[in-house]
Parts: sequence; structure tokens; C-alpha cells
Amino acid sequence: MGEQDNAEPAPTAAAPATVGVVGAGTMGIGVAQCFMEAGHPVVVVDPDPDALGSGPERLRAGMKLARMLGRRPRRAGDTAAAPVTWSAELADLSDALFVVECAVEKEPVKELILRELDAVCGPETVFASCTSCIPVTRLGSFTGRPDRVIGTHFMNPAPLKDTVEVIRAPGTSEDTVRRTEEFLAGIGKHGVVVRDAPGFVTNRVLMLTLNEAAAVLDEGTADAATVDQIFQECFGHPMGPLRTADLIGLDTVVDSLDVLREHTGDDRFRPTPLLARLVAQGRTGRKTGGGFYPYPEPGTQIPAPTHAQRVPQGETSHG
Ligand code: NAD
Repeated sequence: MGEQDNAEPAPTAAAPATVGVVGAGTMGIGVAQCFMEAGHPVVVVDPDPDALGSGPERLRAGMKLARMLGRRPRRAGDTAAAPVTWSAELADLSDALFVVECAVEKEPVKELILRELDAVCGPETVFASCTSCIPVTRLGSFTGRPDRVIGTHFMNPAPLKDTVEVIRAPGTSEDTVRRTEEFLAGIGKHGVVVRDAPGFVTNRVLMLTLNEAAAVLDEGTADAATVDQIFQECFGHPMGPLRTADLIGLDTVVDSLDVLREHTGDDRFRPTPLLARLVAQGRTGRKTGGGFYPYPEPGTQIPAPTHAQRVPQGETSHG
């Protein structure tokens, strides 16, 4: 078990449950912030020492951004923000009652994680996956408790987005849906429940749009800023598709398209060559300092000025 990010909160009569977060990337840090600020002790697990090492600073940056945008921390009762513990071992999640899996969008990685979690955590623990596209039924099949597996597709940045797409697989129990909704309500989120399918509602539609926007750019129909400008000014979107792809992470977009193609057999989800080239070059978007656009401060979740120089407060991206 690694470093603790802040002091122990004062004990309370009904202490909020410990929450596990697997993956200390873009989503894991944001989800950890949501639970920590609501008073849940959080254990974040990631095998990558760099992700663990930079985690506390990225979490603090997320808290600072939320304050700048006028978001108040949501506390459970009058508890102070709870401690965050950083670890490389899933075994450290043995006390967690709710685990949000936020590892890379690769099915074999999630399979290994879920199998180990199943062995480590108590039988009551709910496994909620932040997967963008992998059917929850498939994820549940990696455990001996498919009734306790559910999708919680948080939007990005998680602390700034109040709606979570909740995916209920046929095997997910009513009790798991209820408990998940309670956990979400406790951190000020509202779950919208949908049925299980590759990409659910959000990413079945969005990933195709992002892929086509990259194709339009690659074919020279318009430059990146113009593609985004069209979506903002003609459709009223707060952010265009190419900046959205940069915010999500182009590697995550490509992984999501691969998952969608694999699970639907639909070749429309094949990543456009430009997307594949950028990822091969390590240009994965905002988190690495460059994607369709350059970002002077890699890793920040602060929205860059858009072509039209207008990003309404709090409307930073989709997820
Ligand atoms: P990311 O690349 O920023 O972070 C992924 C993290 O997973 C990395 O820190 C990596 O070290 C870690 N990881 C890899 N193998 C692991 C393992 N075996 N155990 C634990 N951690 C491991 O990715 P992200 O954008 O945070 O995406 C995480 C999940 O959330 C994916 O399933 C993605 O599809 C989904 N998602 C992403 C967004 C978005 O906008 N980025 C939005 C909603 C959902």
C-alpha cells in the first residue's frame, strides 16, 4: 500500500464506504476525486509507477480546476475530504464495497483485473466499469458474480459532469442497480440507465462521429479548427469532435473503435488512417501535449480556447 494523499478524517458514526478505483489515468483520477470529495476513503490502484507517482498532483489539479469553475466539494455528512491511498496491488482493494474499474479500454486487461478483483473482494462488492464500449455482459462473464457487475460510464472530466450513463446487463441484479444509484447520488451524480450493447448509447454514436471527423480532416475537406467550428456554430455543440477526441485521448478513441468493430462486426468502426498514425506517433491528445491540436500543458483538463473562443463554464466536453 502506497502513499496517502491527505490526513485521516475524523471518525464518524456511519463512515462512508471505502471505494476502489482501478487505473490512475484520465478517468481514474477524476472518479477518485468525486468519491474522495464526498468523504469516501479511496484506494487507487495502477501498476504503472509513473501514473501512481503523478496521481496526487493530477488529483490536486482536478480539485483546483473544479474550484475555479465554481464547483463545491460534495461531502457525506460533515466529514472532511477523505484520504486517497495509492497502490500497485489489487489486493489492497479487499475492503472496498464499490470498485470503479477505469483501466485502459482493452478487454484482456479488464479481464485480468476483474478475475483478480473477484478473488480479492468480498462477495457483496459491486464492480462498476467505466468502459466506453465493452459490453457489460462480457465483463460480468469474467467474474463469478455477474449480478454484481454494472457499467458506470462517467463523462470526462468526471468531477465536472453530473450525469453518468449506467449500463445494466441482463445479469445485473436489481440490488446492484439500486446500490450503484445510491453511490452515484452520494457524489452528486445522476445515473441514466440504459440496456447493454457495444458502445451503449453514447459511444455507439460518438465514436463513429469522431472517426468521420478525422476522415474529413485527412481528406482535406477542412482543417481541424474549421471542422470543430462547424459543429460549434452550426449545431451549437460546446466543443467540436476533434477537440473532444483530443480530450478523451486518441489512444482511447482507437481502442474504443476496435472494441466496437470487434463486437458489432461493422467495418464503419475501423479507425481512420490519420487516427492510427497519430497514436503510432504517440500523439494521443491533451494528455501528451499534442493530438489534432498542440497543448502547451500536457495532462491538464482545462479546456483550451476553441476556434470560436467560447467555452461556456462547465461545458467542457462530453465523456
Ligand atoms: P488512460 O489511458 O488515461 O488511463 C488508463 C490507465 O489504466 C493508465 O494509468 C494505465 O496505467 C492503467 N492500467 C493499465 N493496465 C492496468 C491494470 N492491469 N490495472 C490497473 N490499471 C491499469 O485511460 P482513460 O481515458 O482514463 O480511460 C479509462 C477507461 O475509461 C477506459 O475504459 C475508457 O474507455 C473509459 N472512458 C474514457 C473516457 C475519456 O474521455 N478518456 C471517458 C469515459 C470512459
